[in-house]
Amino acid sequence: MTCPDPRNFHLSDARAARAFREKLAIPFLPSYPAAKSIRKRRKPLDTFDVDTAVAGAGVIGIAIARALALAGKDVLLLEKNGLIGEETSARNSEVIHAGIYYDPGSLKAQHCLRGKALLYQFCEERGVPYRRCGKLIVATDDREAGKLTGIADHARANGVDDLTLLEGRDAVAIEPVLTAVAALNSPSTGIIDSHALMLALLGEAEAHGAQTLLSARIIGGELEPDGRVLLEIGGPDPMRLRARSFVNAAGLWATDLTRRIDGMPPAPDLELVKGSYFTLAGKAPFSRLIYPVPRDGGLGVHLTLDLGGQAKFGPDTDWLSDSDPAQIDYGVDESRRAAFAAAIRQYWNGIREEDLLPGYSGVRPKIAGAAYPDFRIMGPDSHGAGPHAFLYGIESPGLTACLSIAEEVAGMLT
Ligand SMILES: Cc1cc2nc3c(=O)[nH]c(=O)nc-3n(C[C@H](O)[C@H](O)[C@H](O)COP(=O)(O)OP(=O)(O)OC[C@H]3O[C@@H](n4cnc5c(N)ncnc54)[C@H](O)[C@@H]3O)c2cc1C
Repeated sequence: MTCPDPRNFHLSDARAARAFREKLAIPFLPSYPAAKSIRKRRKPLDTFDVDTAVAGAGVIGIAIARALALAGKDVLLLEKNGLIGEETSARNSEVIHAGIYYDPGSLKAQHCLRGKALLYQFCEERGVPYRRCGKLIVATDDREAGKLTGIADHARANGVDDLTLLEGRDAVAIEPVLTAVAALNSPSTGIIDSHALMLALLGEAEAHGAQTLLSARIIGGELEPDGRVLLEIGGPDPMRLRARSFVNAAGLWATDLTRRIDGMPPAPDLELVKGSYFTLAGKAPFSRLIYPVPRDGGLGVHLTLDLGGQAKFGPDTDWLSDSDPAQIDYGVDESRRAAFAAAIRQYWNGIREEDLLPGYSGVRPKIAGAAYPDFRIMGPDSHGAGPHAFLYGIESPGLTACLSIAEEVAGMLT
C-alpha cells in the first residue's frame, strides 16, 4: 500500500474544493469569467494587454497574486498545469517552521520569522486548518546533547527566543516512546493544510479581481523596449499577452522561464535536490514533530505529522544530476527503507522496517554554487529591467514564508 499521490488531494476534486471554499467563507468563482472571455474572444495568436501577469500558481505565485490584487492591481495568474498547486506546493512536509537553522540575516531567516507570524494569523482569521503542535530536536548521546545549546543560540540570533532545553526524562515524559538524553522544545513549530491555504489565498485574490488561467504555459516571449513583457502562451489555447508588470514565481522552472523570455536579466543556475518520504503504517507514536540533531549539514530523517494524524519520515537529500525539471522522477526508491529505519531507530526504537511505506517525494530548487543557498528575490531595484520580479531558489521554508515573500514582492511593484 502506498500513500496517495499528493497531487490527487483536495484540489483535483471540484466538490471538495467547493466545500473548502464554503467552509472558509470564500466566494466560489467556478469559471474565472474574464479569463474565460479572453479565451472566447481570442482569434489565433491575438495579443491581449494585462496589467500584471504572475507566472506560477503554487503557494508563492498565489500569495503574490493575492497581495497585488489587495493592493489594487489587475492581476492575471498563469499556470501551466490544469490545476493550481500541483508541484512543490503539494509535495512538502506542510510544516510551519519556527526559523531555527537559517543563517541570521538571510532572506530565509527573515521571511520565515515574519511569514510564520503572518501565517498563523491568516489561518486563525480565515479558518485554514493548522495545529501549533511544536517540535522536539532530540539528542541521543552526550555529543549531540552538547550541540543543543549552540542550536538554541543560533535560533536566538534569528529572533526565535522561545526554545527550551529539556533533560532526557522531561522529553520522555511528554513523548513516552522517545529515546533521548536531552532535547530542545520548539513550541512555535506547527503544521498546516497547504491545499486549504492555497484555496483560501486564491479565493481572496479572485474576490479582489484577480483572474486565473489554467493550462496556460508561458513558452517564450520578449522584454519590449518600453519595459513591457510580451508573453507567448502555449497549451490548448495559444495566445500572446502583453504585461506591464511580470512576476516569475515558477518554482523549479523559474530559471527555465526567464531564459525563454528574450532580454530578461540573467537567471541563476538551479540545482535540484529530491527529498523522499516514507509514511508510517498505523498510529503515530508522537504528538509533536521529532527531529534529530542535524548532521553533515542535513536535518536528518525526521518525523512530521499531518492534520489527519498520519506520521511520515523524511525528506532525505538526493542531489539530482539533471537540473531539467522535465526529467524529474517523483517515484520513491524503496531500497532506502532500511537506511530510513536505521536513522529513525536512534530516537524511536519501536520502529519496524515493514511499517515504513513508500510515500511521495518533492524537489528543492537550490541556487547552484552558493555556499549558503538562500532565496533570491529580484525586483526593479536589483535588475533595472522594469516593474518585474523574479523569484529563484524558493525551497523550504517557502510555504511558511509565502505571505512575507508576497508582501515584499507587492512592495517592490506597487
Ligand atoms: C521535500 C520538500 C519539503 C518541504 N517542506 C516544507 C515545509 O515543511 N515547510 C515549508 O515552509 N516549506 C517546505 N518546503 C518548501 C515549499 O514547499 C516551497 O518553498 C513552496 O511550495 C514553493 O512554492 P512555489 O509556488 O515557488 O513553487 P511551486 O509550488 O512549484 O509552483 C510553481 C508553479 O509554477 C508553474 N509553472 C512553472 N513553469 C511555468 C510556466 N512556464 N508557465 C506557467 N506556469 C508555470 C508550475 O506548474 C507550478 O504550479 C518543502 C519543499 C520540499 C521540496
